[in-house]
Amino acid sequence: MAIVVQKFGGTSVATATKIQAAARRAIDQHERGHQVIVVVSAMGHSTDELIDLAKQVTPRPPARELDMLLSTGEQVSVALLAMAIQSQGVPSISFTGSQIGIVTDSFHTKARIRNISTDRMKSALDDGKIVIVAGFQGVDENYNITTLGRGGSDTTAVALAAVICASACEIFTDVDGVYTTDPRLVPDARKLDTISYDEMLEMASLGAGVMHSRSIEFAKKYHVPIHVRHASRPDVGTWIVDELAARRMGAVVTGAALAKEEARITVRGLPDRPGVVHGLFRELAERHVVVDMIVQNVAKDGFAEVTFTVDEDDLENSLSIVNKAAAAQGAASVQSDREVAKVSVVGSGMKTHYGVAVRMFEALAAAGVNIQMITTSEIKISVLVARSQGVDALRAVHAAFELEVVPADLRFSEDPPEIAVTLVQKNQGPVSTENAIVGSAPGMEDLVISDVELDRSQARITLLNVPDKPGQAALVFRAIADSGINVDMIVQDMSEEVGREAHTLLSFSIPSRDAIQAVEALTQLLGPNSVAVDPNIAKLSVMGVGIRSHTGVATRMFAALAAANINISMINSSEVRINVATDAAHGEIGLEALKKAFDI
Ligand code: ADP
Ligand code: ASP
Ligand code: MG
Repeated sequence: MAIVVQKFGGTSVATATKIQAAARRAIDQHERGHQVIVVVSAMGHSTDELIDLAKQVTPRPPARELDMLLSTGEQVSVALLAMAIQSQGVPSISFTGSQIGIVTDSFHTKARIRNISTDRMKSALDDGKIVIVAGFQGVDENYNITTLGRGGSDTTAVALAAVICASACEIFTDVDGVYTTDPRLVPDARKLDTISYDEMLEMASLGAGVMHSRSIEFAKKYHVPIHVRHASRPDVGTWIVDELAARRMGAVVTGAALAKEEARITVRGLPDRPGVVHGLFRELAERHVVVDMIVQNVAKDGFAEVTFTVDEDDLENSLSIVNKAAAAQGAASVQSDREVAKVSVVGSGMKTHYGVAVRMFEALAAAGVNIQMITTSEIKISVLVARSQGVDALRAVHAAFELEVVPADLRFSEDPPEIAVTLVQKNQGPVSTENAIVGSAPGMEDLVISDVELDRSQARITLLNVPDKPGQAALVFRAIADSGINVDMIVQDMSEEVGREAHTLLSFSIPSRDAIQAVEALTQLLGPNSVAVDPNIAKLSVMGVGIRSHTGVATRMFAALAAANINISMINSSEVRINVATDAAHGEIGLEALKKAFDI
């Protein structure tokens, strides 16, 4: 007998009729002979309404009480759904997060799951009941109610599927699958048949609101196949599965995403010495502020500049922390901008193809969009643009990669039920099937660092004075692509006034063997004295799952390198790794320092 976990989002349980329809879905699976666990979100917009209410009472509601309040939204839905199922003659029982034993840490409003007890769920399932669990909530070890962060019901569902070794987790929502980008913003976005965990992790954390990114961390760690589908349509949706199962030969870019609520912080005039970056980010990490798009570029005249983005909601809090930290490090100034948006393209195929960056930059140039910042990883390229241009930029990029067109040779032919079956056998993650508390120590959502790596095959090119206007990055990377050179890390940071014109610093890494050719091509394009090259750099990487959402990883890496007296010249990061560039001479020492810091 298979166990299936289903999750219904807010819109899918927004009315009594929709709750009855959800009940029907659960009963269908039950009648097929499966054991069914259903996770539900709060009805419609009730979480937003509760937050509003709290803010009418006080502008800064205390986090513990906010969690107490918000958890009531899901409690309403579970009771109603259990009633609806029972009224159709099937036994069912509802539970809150604490009743089912979802134990979290104590970070109110963004708590992480430590462990989940399976006893109560199992005995209810064995009694033939459909088990209904409130999403998004848990309890800490002092019995305080906690919540997992907005959109967290997805994470509850996938975590339950993991501990109970479910054959699949069905996510029922208001869209019929995962699209190449948000179909509300780009009408000709196309539904994907499959997407890999890594791609979905990036998409989710780069703004694709269809899945809570932490739920994908669970899915990847514990091998849970996820089926995202429409709550009121019978059609097959999108399977989120491992790389092999998801492989679409030839597709370089899988999707594009827009994160609209970003804010940028730039710290200028930082003394260029080891430990500075660590000093800047330490406290942000301690306060669990998720920092994204960290960009540090090559220092100029002994001073470095670090730019990063945070959630717009975290800006004020972050600025008060960063202002202090920057002053302590001797920085010249801290600037911020809340009118920015991040546009990204994601695809596992990027690892082996070049020319993706130039295609993206040319599309943006043709749409008249100025790129404020660039950062890349192995499977994504992100740019920061003015928020007013965000949607146009997303559309331009989506069109440039022809994401609306079904690639002819890539149609997914297998029958979805078969996928589920093959994946059942694969679902042998590191989860115990015993009735015991699963993952008691260490916590289920703890960071997993799988490896650290040193790559000494790269050179770094730095363009010192790139005019800050549309089309510049496109020109540069066209010249590089036309020379047949593959680009790895790209970092472009914020502009700076040089004379009367604004300029940016653009750095990127390429294979060392191509350095001379690249310098020639760029000198021809930009004139003499505009290109600096370091023919041998060391690229140090830390790899794992949950790198971005676990705010301490970057700081741990920076701390280890600082302690080894190693200066960082470039940083970029993704969901699954952080890369830093440093001079070649420090590669080995850096690698050892990282191995020690991460117990590898
Ligand atoms: P739920 O309440 O069911 O959790 P959400 O609103 O959280 O639903 O997520 C579904 C929404 O996510 C869709 O209506 C869609 O607008 C948005 N979305 C953003 N990016 C994507 C994408 N790449 N594919 C599908 N939907 C997306
Ligand atoms: N109700 C919560 C929210 O609106 C959790 C969820 O829907 O996933 O964020
Ligand atoms: Mg959601």
